[in-house]
Parts: sequence; C-alpha cells; structure tokens
Amino acid sequence: NRHILEVKHLKTYFPVKNGLFAKKTEYVKAVDDVSFCLGKGKTLGIVGESGCGKTTMGRSILRLIEPTSGSVKFLGEEITALSRSKMREFRGEMQIIFQDPFSSLNPRITVFDTLEEALSIHLPGESRVERTEHIHQLLDMVGLNISHAHRYPHEFSGGQRQRIGIARAISVNPSLIIADEPISALDVSIQAQILNLLQDLQGQLGLTCIFVTHDLSAVKHISDRIGVMYLGSMVEQADTDDLFSNPLHPYTKLLMSAVPIPDPTRKKEKIYLHGDVPNPADPPTGCSFHTRCNQCMDICSSIKPQEIEVESGHMVACHLYL
Ligand code: SF4
Repeated sequence: NRHILEVKHLKTYFPVKNGLFAKKTEYVKAVDDVSFCLGKGKTLGIVGESGCGKTTMGRSILRLIEPTSGSVKFLGEEITALSRSKMREFRGEMQIIFQDPFSSLNPRITVFDTLEEALSIHLPGESRVERTEHIHQLLDMVGLNISHAHRYPHEFSGGQRQRIGIARAISVNPSLIIADEPISALDVSIQAQILNLLQDLQGQLGLTCIFVTHDLSAVKHISDRIGVMYLGSMVEQADTDDLFSNPLHPYTKLLMSAVPIPDPTRKKEKIYLHGDVPNPADPPTGCSFHTRCNQCMDICSSIKPQEIEVESGHMVACHLYL
C-alpha cells in the first residue's frame, strides 16, 4: 500500500498585527504541525468545526496557500520545494472542488467553455472533434445533460453547479482531489446525490481524495480514514471503522454524540459541546481543547499533548493516553 501523499509537520501560520504600534508580530497557527499519509485510491475525511484549519490545510497541500514549513510529498515529489513553473505542471495532478461552485465558476462563460478552458491547458493536443467528444463524456459522467452544455452557470441549480465543478476537477485526469465542504452549501436532499457521485467517480477513476467537512456523518460512508482537527492540530486519526467503534479523543467523542443514530432502540448519552471554538489568534495554553473538555486534568492546561499511536494506525493527541 504505497502512499501517494505524505504530509509531515505541515505548518501554515498567518501573521497578525495586534494594534498599530505592536512591536512583535503574532501568528495565527492555522495549521500547526499536521502529519498524515494517504494510500492510492483511498479517501481521507478531515473533520472539524469552522476555524479549525481544515480548509487552510487542504489549500496548503495544493500550495494555493503557501505553507510556512513542513513537507508535502506527492507522487514522490516534494511539493513545497517546486518552482512555480514546475508547480503549474503538477496542478493537473491535484484538483480542488470548492464549497460554493458558483463563486468558482466564471459567470460569463458556458459550461462547455469552462471545461474547454481546463482541457486546453492540460491537454493542448486534442483536436476540436476530440475536445467536444471529451466535454460531452465529462458531462455524462457527472450526470449532466449534454444538451445543456451551452448554458451559463446561473441557469443551473446548486447541485448541478457542483456537478460542473466536479466535471472541471476530473477533466484533467488528476490523481488527487481535495473536496472542500463540497456539499455543505446544498439542500439536504441533494447532498446524498453529490456524495454518491463523488464515490462512484472515485471508484471509476481510481482517485485519491481528501474530503474536508464539518459533518462527521457525511464522511462516514465515503472515507477509509478520518482525521479530526481542532485549532490547527490533528487530535485523532484512524481508519473509519476504528474511529467510530472506538473514538479516543474527548473532542471526537463529542462530535460523535452529535451524529444521529438511526436505531432508536440504542440508547446513547448525548453530550453537547459547550462554548465556541477559541480565537485561533489567541489559543489556550497546553491542550488547545482544555477549555471545552469534560475530562480535563491539571496537566492539560500547561502541557500540549503529543500525538501518539495507541493502536496500529490509530493516533491520538491527549494526556489521557500517555
Ligand atoms: Fe481533554 Fe486533557 Fe485530553 Fe486535552 S489532553 S483532550 S484537555 S483530557
């Protein structure tokens, strides 16, 4: 099981000025020392509340945001060390699907032209006939009607626009897709359709995926592994079945208690997350979750827990397991 993607000690910090005359620059540690690996054809779900750094992490891997330090090895290449022109060549291998496809689609060009634009950069050798055939095939793969190819983005529903975004992402034959909250802007009735489409395409094309979401239940059925992020750190990561059968981190347990259980005979104690996510510019000392943790101990407010492997492939960063 060769890893197609290896992320090590990834950090993405943003400078913030605290007041006009502040002497020292403070940093928001949006991604703070995150490591994980991903095998070819696998899906990793990244889960966390808004502001936990999951979107920044996805974009840092693609270098849409430049990481501060750390290593991102993709297909054996150190991505962080690539020049801009080499990175452009690599872009075809790594694609992103955005939360709001409307804002990422050019409103002035048709779906056909949107896909043509992507294909002309990555497959410049295609003839006109081949190109048209290719675009029709892509529309068909994502479940859009070929006769709508010459419509503009505003003529489609939210779900259809997301299908266009997906068609654009797969048009260049990528190895890795990062889907950043791809269903959270859609109606609940449409969400399952888009999830199923992504899952089908992944199987058909052998894609490796990172699925970023705030909704743990959304990733349960499509992820092989899940990483849980809190304030820039990965607090737990495990294979999906292990995570759901044996969640270790108090934060993961809290997120899970919010997942509805379809079986009404199974009783479960409901625990609620109290308080908001702390300000990332001024995170708590020690374990960043200690201000909301129901199992907090003395050590937790002063010493940050390191990530350890509790069982094979099941990692957690919490003093309860040290
Ligand atoms: Fe809770 Fe302490 Fe574990 Fe942090 S380290 S999650 S505060 S028990």
